[in-house]
Amino acid sequence: MSSEILDYLNDTVVIFDSQGTILFSNRFVENYGFERDRLVGTKIWDYISPEFRDKVLEDMKKIERGESVERELKVLTPAGEVWVEYRSNPIKIGENTKVVFSTLRDITEKKKEEGEFKRYYEFTSKISSKLNMDEIFKLSYEELKNFVDFDIFTIGLVDRERNSVRIEFSVERGRFLPKRSYKILPEESLSSWVVYHGKPLLIRNFKEEEDNLPAKVHVVGGEPQSWLGVPLFLKDQIIGLLTVQSFEPYAYDERELRILQSLSSQLSMAIGNALLYQKIKEREENAHLERERYRNILENLLTGIVIIYEGKIIYVNRFIEEILGSRVQNLIGEDFIKFIHPEMKDLVLENYRRRMMGLPAPKNYVVKLIDDKGGIRWAQINATPVNWEGLQAELISLQDITHLKDMERKLMELVKVFRDIKIAKSKEEIYNMALNALFNVLNFSYVVVGEIKDNTIEITNYIGYDEYNIYPLNLYEDKGVIAWVARNKRPYYVPDVKKEPLYLPGGKDIRCEYATPIIIGDRLFGVLNIEKKEVNSIAEEERNLVDMLAEHMAVALASLERQEDLQRAKNFQELMVHIMSHDLKNPLAVSTGYVEMLREEYNPEYVEGANRALEEAFNIIEKVKLFSRLGSGKIYEKKTPLSLRSLIEKASSLILEKYAGTEVVLDMEEMRIEGYPLLDTVFLNIIDNAFKYGATKVTIKGTEFQDYVKISVMDNGPGIPEDMKDKIFEPFERLSSKRGSGLGLAIVKMIVQLHGGEVWVENNVPEGSIFIVQLPKG
Ligand code: ADP
Repeated sequence: MSSEILDYLNDTVVIFDSQGTILFSNRFVENYGFERDRLVGTKIWDYISPEFRDKVLEDMKKIERGESVERELKVLTPAGEVWVEYRSNPIKIGENTKVVFSTLRDITEKKKEEGEFKRYYEFTSKISSKLNMDEIFKLSYEELKNFVDFDIFTIGLVDRERNSVRIEFSVERGRFLPKRSYKILPEESLSSWVVYHGKPLLIRNFKEEEDNLPAKVHVVGGEPQSWLGVPLFLKDQIIGLLTVQSFEPYAYDERELRILQSLSSQLSMAIGNALLYQKIKEREENAHLERERYRNILENLLTGIVIIYEGKIIYVNRFIEEILGSRVQNLIGEDFIKFIHPEMKDLVLENYRRRMMGLPAPKNYVVKLIDDKGGIRWAQINATPVNWEGLQAELISLQDITHLKDMERKLMELVKVFRDIKIAKSKEEIYNMALNALFNVLNFSYVVVGEIKDNTIEITNYIGYDEYNIYPLNLYEDKGVIAWVARNKRPYYVPDVKKEPLYLPGGKDIRCEYATPIIIGDRLFGVLNIEKKEVNSIAEEERNLVDMLAEHMAVALASLERQEDLQRAKNFQELMVHIMSHDLKNPLAVSTGYVEMLREEYNPEYVEGANRALEEAFNIIEKVKLFSRLGSGKIYEKKTPLSLRSLIEKASSLILEKYAGTEVVLDMEEMRIEGYPLLDTVFLNIIDNAFKYGATKVTIKGTEFQDYVKISVMDNGPGIPEDMKDKIFEPFERLSSKRGSGLGLAIVKMIVQLHGGEVWVENNVPEGSIFIVQLPKG
C-alpha cells in the first residue's frame, strides 16, 4: 500500500506482522513523539502498557482467524501514557502473507471525562456520610483536586448573626492559610460578592480585568491570576461559598464552573448536616440544653438518624420515614437488624457487637436495607456512641444513596453499550443501540434521534411514541427544542414544556424534555432527545448519562465516517494502480511508438498520432480525477438553469469532429432543467461510446414530462448483451478489454444520480442500443 495515501488519512495507522513487528506507520505517529523511521522493525509490545499486553495477544489470535478487533488501551509513547482506541483488521498482501492493519485514535480526553463522572459519584457517596465539618472540608479539598487544578482552595461559611462570611478552610498548595471574615456587602471582597448575589463569579485573568473587578481583592497567600467561586445553597438559603484560585491566568472556564456547581450541591448538604450535628455535640457537652431542643435538631437533620440501644431502635427522626417508608411510631422498639438485607445481616451484627464491646470495627460503610415494601435501599452509614437520655446508646446516621447506586448500575450497563456502539457497522445500528439503551437501561419511554442534513433535522428513529409527529425541522426556525440544540450545539433541559416557548409538541401528554447534541469537536451529527410525562422529572445525573451516550454516538459516527473514507481511499488507490497498469499503458505505448518512428524520419502524421495518443492518456487521467471527485462528493459547482438541447448539441458536435463519416440526429425541443454544468459529460460519454464501439448513426430524442425529462440516445452499433446491461455502469466493466478505461459509464451514472435521476440501457431495433437518461427538472 502506498504510504502517501495513508498519510492523508486522519488516523494514526500502524501496520505490523503476526509477530507484532512494525512494518509501517503513517506520519501521525510523530504526534506522539515517535520517529517514524525508527518504529519500523520494532515490536508493538514495547509500546503497549503492560496491563493490556495479554488482551492484545488474545486480539492477535482473533485477527489471525480473520476477525477484526477493537479495544481501548493505554500506550507508552515518548510523550507519556496515552489512551487510544484501536481497530485492527487482517489484510492479505500476496498469497501467504497476512499483516495487521491498525488504526489508532487518541481518546485520552474522553477517558478523562469518564473518570470524572465516576469520581463525581464517589465524591457524592463519600461526602454524604461525613458529619464532621473538618473532615468534610478536607475531603472536598482532596477530591476536588481530581477534577480541577488549583493553587488555592477555600470554603467560606455564612454567619448570619454577624452578617459576614467566614473563610473557614483555606489551603494554598497544602499549607493552611489563616481564617478570616468579610462583611456580606457586594464590594467588600470577591467572596462577599458571591454570597451577596448568590451567583458564581469567574475571573479569568486578574491583570486583564483589573479595572472591572466587582469587589476588593484581599490577597492572603500567593497572588492568584484566575479565580472561580460558587455559592453553596441549602434549599434556598446561602450557607457559604467554595472557591478555587490559580496562579496561572485563564485556568478556569465553563467546564470548571459546571464541575464546581455540581459538586457544590453535595457539599452544601453535607455542610448542612454537619452544622446541625455540631449542635448535637455541643448539647452533649452542655447538659443544661433541654431535651426538646436536642430532639428538634435531630428532626431537622437532612440525614436519617437512628438510635439503637441493645439492638433495639429507641429513636428515629422523621427523615427515616422517607428512606424506609415506615412511620416513626412503627419503628420504635423494633430490632434494627430487621431492616438490613439478609446478605448483610451477619456483617452488620458483627460490626455492631464489636463496637459495643469497644473492639475496633468500621464506623462508616454502605449497607443494603429493606424498606417496608420489601424494596432494596442503599445507605451510607456512620455510627457514633451517644449518651441518650442517660443510656449508652449508638447513633447511626443514614444517607440514602439508592439513587446513586442505581446510577452506578446504569453507568456500568451503559459502558457495555458504549463498547457495542463503537463496533457498530452502520449509522442505523448506532441509532438503534442508543435508543434501546435509553429505553431499557435508563428507562426513558420517549426517545428520538434527529439527524442533521444540511439545514434540517430529520427524525430518523424513535421509540415509545404511538406515532411521532414527524416533520423535517428547519435548523433556523425559532421553534423546536431540537433545532435550538442543533443550532447552539449545547444541551437544553425543559422542566415543563407548558412554560417553554420553544417547545413543539412531538408526542401526546409530554411535560418534560431534554435534548443534547451528538457532537464531536465541531462536527455535529444530530440531536438526542428524551421526553417524559411528568414535570421536571429528568434528574441532572440522568442528563449527564444521556450526554455521555450522545458523546459516544458521535465518536462512533465519526469513526464510521473515517472507515468509509479509508475504504474510499483504498478503492481509489486500487483504481490508480489499475489505471496505471492497464489503461494508461496503451496510449502511452502508442505515443512512444510514434516518437520512435519520428527519430527515424519526420512525418507530420506521426506527430498527429503521438498527439492523439497523448490526448487519450490525458482523457483517462481527467476521467479518473472526475470519478474520484464524484466519489468523494466534492462537487464545487452550483446548480444552474441548463438548456438541454443546446448542451446536447454542443456535445454532439465535439464528438462528431473525432469520428469521420458519422451522423447525429437531434429530435428534441429545447428543454430546461436545474442542473450542474458537468451534465454535458453524461452526453459526451454516451455519444462517444456509441461511435467508439461501432455505430455510424446516433439519434437523440427528448421528451418532457411534468416533473422530469427523458432523453434517449439510440445508436446502430453492436448492442449490449442482456447480462451486461447493468454491469457496464460499474467501474472497470467492459465488454472487451481492448479500449477505454471502463469508467465512462460509471461517471455517467454518478452524475445522473447526483441530479436525482436514473440511467439505463435498452435494445434498439433492429440493432444497437438505447441509453436512456431520466432527469428531474428541479
Ligand atoms: P469505456 O471507457 O471502456 O468505454 P464505459 O464505462 O464508457 O467505459 O463503457 C463500458 C463498456 O460498455 C465499454 O467498454 C463497452 O464495452 C460497453 N459500451 C458502452 N457503450 C456502448 C455502446 N453504445 N454500444 C456498445 N457497447 C457499449
